[in-house]
Amino acid sequence: SSATAPIKATLFPGDGIGPEIAESVKQVFKVAEVPIEWEEHYVGTEIDPRTQSFLTWESLESVRRNKVGLKGPMATPIGKGHRSLNLTLRKELNLYANVRPCNSLPGYKTRYDDVNLITIRENMEGEYCGLEHQVSVVESLKIITRQASLRVAEYAFHYAKTHGQEKVSAIHKANIMQKTDGLFLKCCREVAEKYREIIYEEVVIDNCCMLLVKNPACFDVLVMPNLYGDIISDLCAGLVGGLDLTPSCNIGEGGICLAEAVHGSAPDIAGKNLANPTALMLSAVSMLRHLELNDRADKIQDAILNTIAEGKYRTADLGGTSSTTDFTKAICDHL
Ligand code: NAD
Repeated sequence: SSATAPIKATLFPGDGIGPEIAESVKQVFKVAEVPIEWEEHYVGTEIDPRTQSFLTWESLESVRRNKVGLKGPMATPIGKGHRSLNLTLRKELNLYANVRPCNSLPGYKTRYDDVNLITIRENMEGEYCGLEHQVSVVESLKIITRQASLRVAEYAFHYAKTHGQEKVSAIHKANIMQKTDGLFLKCCREVAEKYREIIYEEVVIDNCCMLLVKNPACFDVLVMPNLYGDIISDLCAGLVGGLDLTPSCNIGEGGICLAEAVHGSAPDIAGKNLANPTALMLSAVSMLRHLELNDRADKIQDAILNTIAEGKYRTADLGGTSSTTDFTKAICDHL
């Protein structure tokens, strides 16, 4: 592989702890000899009129060109006249699906062992299209389209098939939201017809919450509209330990994959060498799997999991006393 040209990937180190945990990823990739060349982009200090946000046009172009990237947490600048950073990324890159695999980390005890759930969230519409107004009452529109529903359902079934998962569960409230969630379900059913080898079921969101906390093994892949996905994906992350441990990946039009740590920029511990880089590293691993660099992905994932399981080097959020750099070094030693 050393003879082939490296793959270019965009890296947004982000704000707060972002640059520290991005440094960990870069180091681990170097030691694992991953054939990736990072194109680093930071959030700008002023609004770029071409994106109407602090994200520069050049950084978006970098993702469009490379089709693959990794994003650290970004602090949302307060003020008027600009779009939020995450919204800009989502809209400009058409990031239509957010994928979060939640797997138990051996040796890090939570209420359940062997959690293996994948939430796939429609990322562009639903209650999150920002269509709210006040007439005399306050109104908010929920948009569900056939196109977006088919697209995310297709991705969910494709994911299940290519990742050896048996079942796709569509999560909904179509008994109340008959038209919107009804359409979402209809689209899921249509796609399910094409994937006869995958079990398909429909579960009402409230029942889904109860089943998840009672027995997470009830589910494999869960696909759902935006708002439900926002909530359920955090619930699932909680089952395996929290947002500092769960990777995520955004899938966009034209095969774009933007992996992302979903926790925030943690301003309370920024610059103190205390952050846990696990979520960003596992996100980077899912980016490698998207690139079908599975041997490198396995190698890095094993090194992360073994380091955590060993328990000798853990950051403070996991009850340890290690610094970000000590933990990273332990992972590199495992490699
Ligand atoms: P946060 O996730 O930054 O912090 C919540 C708590 O979790 C803090 O105590 C923090 O120290 C801890 N924490 C988070 N990640 C950690 C890690 N990797 N290792 C160890 N501890 C960790 O949430 P917040 O305080 O609500 O938000 C802070 C900033 O982050 C805000 O500007 C917000 O807009 C932004 N934010 C960005 C994203 C994103 O880019 N995806 C997501 C959420 C919040």
